[in-house]
Amino acid sequence: MSDCIFCKIAKGEIPSRKAYEDDRILAFYDLDPQAPVHILLIPKTHIAGADELTEENSGVVAHIFCVASRLARELGLENGYRIVNNCGADGGQSVRHLHFHLLGGRSMAWPPG
Ligand code: AMP
Repeated sequence: MSDCIFCKIAKGEIPSRKAYEDDRILAFYDLDPQAPVHILLIPKTHIAGADELTEENSGVVAHIFCVASRLARELGLENGYRIVNNCGADGGQSVRHLHFHLLGGRSMAWPPG
């Protein structure tokens, strides 16, 4: 998607502070961190949101969770962490490119607001 900001970040057209990258996904630090560790994990291929996942395109989600787990371990989040996906307007999704927030380094409230 030519006008998608996360597609541009994935292609390196917009700079980001990378935490991990391979041929399928990119993990980069959120510009507006909500916790001491706040990383976004995205597929490089454009998927607008969790509401556009299918049996065919969802394999990358398992990969994202495995990388998130590895990053959490490497970043010392042994006390726990949260992985968040906001979907659609009511879910609070502001960027329509599937992404998972990896948040850690502080205690999280539940339920979220
Ligand atoms: P969401 O509200 O779930 O769609 O999350 C979008 C996230 O992207 C927010 O936490 C923003 O702070 C973050 N964000 C937006 N633009 C950038 C950017 N250029 N680099 C890093 N994070 C960004």
